[in-house]
Amino acid sequence: MGSKASTATCLPFLGFFHRASSVATSFAQPAMLQMPPKRSSFALGIIADVQYADHDDGWDFARTRKRYYRQSLKLLQKAVDEWNKRSLDGVIQLGDLIDGKNKGLKQVAGEEHPSERALRLVMEQLNRLTCPLYSLLGNHEFYNLPRQEWVKRLLSNVALDGDPDRAYYQVQIADGWRLVVLDSYEVSSCGWDEGHPRHAEAMEWLKKHNHNIRDAKRDWLAGMRGQAKRWVHYNGGVTQQQLQWLRDILTKADKADEKVLLFSHIPIYPPSTKDTTILWNYQDAMKVLHETQCVVACFYGHDHDGGEAVDSHGIHHITLASPLECLPSENAWGILRGDSDGGLVLEGHGKVPSLTISVRENKIEKAVKGG
Ligand SMILES: [Zn+2]
Repeated sequence: MGSKASTATCLPFLGFFHRASSVATSFAQPAMLQMPPKRSSFALGIIADVQYADHDDGWDFARTRKRYYRQSLKLLQKAVDEWNKRSLDGVIQLGDLIDGKNKGLKQVAGEEHPSERALRLVMEQLNRLTCPLYSLLGNHEFYNLPRQEWVKRLLSNVALDGDPDRAYYQVQIADGWRLVVLDSYEVSSCGWDEGHPRHAEAMEWLKKHNHNIRDAKRDWLAGMRGQAKRWVHYNGGVTQQQLQWLRDILTKADKADEKVLLFSHIPIYPPSTKDTTILWNYQDAMKVLHETQCVVACFYGHDHDGGEAVDSHGIHHITLASPLECLPSENAWGILRGDSDGGLVLEGHGKVPSLTISVRENKIEKAVKGG
């Protein structure tokens, strides 16, 4: 979850990037991951909101939850150690790899900017993975580097159809299983240049739904109630274009009798999270999910506390807890295991609970009727 303090400077570009861009090409990324899978089961590591910064421990904006900025890197290191002991088909990190605080840290003359250093240290851990890494982009990414830089650095191993602005994609992880990754900051006041149409669209949405946004000095949440609290800078939305892409992918998956797992940095089902951490146009996204039968579960970050709910169509919505707010003795990561019969299990570690995720009842009905 973001904070007003860190998002108030949700500016589109940071000058240091030009000076430190040499790191951009140094991250080892696996080759394009579109080879047809041979197996009908899979195991996928999962983690959300590492949010590392070389910064003293602090508090969230409400000053109710302690944040351990340096420790989160050690917890990521431990998670990578554990993932590497297993035979995994991939690891998916759900965004906010480094915290926005990095951008405000003092740069030592002749050394890399703290944002670059933080990202290098985090990637040194993730590059130890013996399996492919899949990434999502979160708001804290954009407080440190511009959007296209993140697309280049973290999404070079997935198919984006050559569009440098695009951050949503899909991957077939096993025979009968598909991962669909949404870009929940496609319409956003973060990441884009201020002159970009998506930035302008985001500001239009925000001002329409939250009168506080017109005055930069006002508390964003003053007078806001319930789910209206989602209309703040650290959240975002999706375009109709992305929703049509999602509809097309799900329609094809449905016809192929595949099961789909969906991933989004911002939660799209309100009961699985807080009013302050919901996708702006979550209703549009939920409507698309309910048009087909193939989506089994959705996984989110951004919230830090974690949560779980099942919607009216039987889709599981799971928000992961963040390592940033773990005690030194804790951690927060998991492994998703899908089998050839359509069974799905989340093997949780630390604050991430272990769950058996049943396939949707209507899906079972369909299979029974089909004989
Ligand atoms: Zn976030």
